[in-house]
Amino acid sequence: MTTVALGFPSAPSARQAIADDVPRTGPLRDRYGRTVRDLRVSVTDRCNLRCTYCMPADGLDWLPPQSVLTTRELIRVITVAVRDLGIETIRLTGGEPLLKRDLEELIAAVAQLPGRPEIAMTTNGLGLKHRADALVAAGLDRINVSLDTVDRERFAAITRRDRLDDVIAGLAAARRAGMRTVKVNAVLADHDDLTRVPDLLDFCLEHGYQLRIIEQMPLDADHRWDRSSMVTADEILTALRRRFTLLPDPRPRGSAPAATWLVDGYEVDGNPARVGVIASVTRPFCGDCDRARLTADGALRNCLFADTEADLRPVLRSGLPDDELDAAIAECWRANAWGKAAGHGVNDPEFHQPSRPMSAIGG
Ligand code: SAM
Ligand code: SF4
Repeated sequence: MTTVALGFPSAPSARQAIADDVPRTGPLRDRYGRTVRDLRVSVTDRCNLRCTYCMPADGLDWLPPQSVLTTRELIRVITVAVRDLGIETIRLTGGEPLLKRDLEELIAAVAQLPGRPEIAMTTNGLGLKHRADALVAAGLDRINVSLDTVDRERFAAITRRDRLDDVIAGLAAARRAGMRTVKVNAVLADHDDLTRVPDLLDFCLEHGYQLRIIEQMPLDADHRWDRSSMVTADEILTALRRRFTLLPDPRPRGSAPAATWLVDGYEVDGNPARVGVIASVTRPFCGDCDRARLTADGALRNCLFADTEADLRPVLRSGLPDDELDAAIAECWRANAWGKAAGHGVNDPEFHQPSRPMSAIGG
């Protein structure tokens, strides 16, 4: 992995590395005509679950606390993103974002930014039942809760923790708190999970949650991902159709990662119920990607699978006056966005897995 500190003002040689064709103003764009609108912010690399497709059983070597961006630093970066770089949606993630104690403070600050971005979060739901009201009061608009199965034993085997009840309680609390959309993210780690996935859709339909099933990607810390054994979008749809009738969704997909279907005969809040599949591996949607990522230690990534990063932390801690600091962040970011590859390359013969696993990037 190459880390570059582009834009750090006291490093003129790095500054010169910014190509002449990188835009100096305006939103975050790349050379393939895509514009970044959606920023995923990892607020911690730590987690209280150990999902097999993400983390090793013993966890990882966590970032030292001094390397993790403070709430103040996060607010600074997000302010530049929203005010100067055209970002419209902020998704908080991790690791497990609910492990950040002052998450509500961060959300409230982001909600007060002029241009009020949409604020979303991806979480494993542990502890959500105690915080859902405060998160909504702070300004959280949407939530995705990761839940791969409603089978207690299987849940414990996948996450290596017996916490299914807490996740279910967290989901219910999110809905009660008035979260605009409550989605369930599921990864099917094994082909046996195909027999259980209709029960998961049943559960979501019964409670008014929108299910999104994600193809497993080569981002596990153990490097065990294997194309020949991964569960594909086609297999997922076939499994769902054994119990449900799925109809084409007339709503345009736009830059959404999920392809969606209407579930015939079901409604959620008076609207047709939908189920989505995110086929990142078998049907990549890189051409419509509008996402950028900020890791918990301040690295900008233009793709989950990027093999270079731009380190904002030295810029943030350089002691520059506010206006120069903001300009340096924006310059660094435009260069990082411009260098985004046309596609993630997972299906190329020379593909190699990034050294940071999913939990350390921010999913
Ligand atoms: N801990 C939170 C959670 O689980 O929702 C947020 C971070 S987690 C990395 C974000 C999302 O990435 C989760 O929905 C999780 O299921 C998904 N994920 C993790 N590892 C993955 C992998 N190897 N392939 C596809 N999705 C993965
Ligand atoms: Fe933790 Fe989320 Fe990774 Fe599971 S997917 S180990 S909950 S970061």
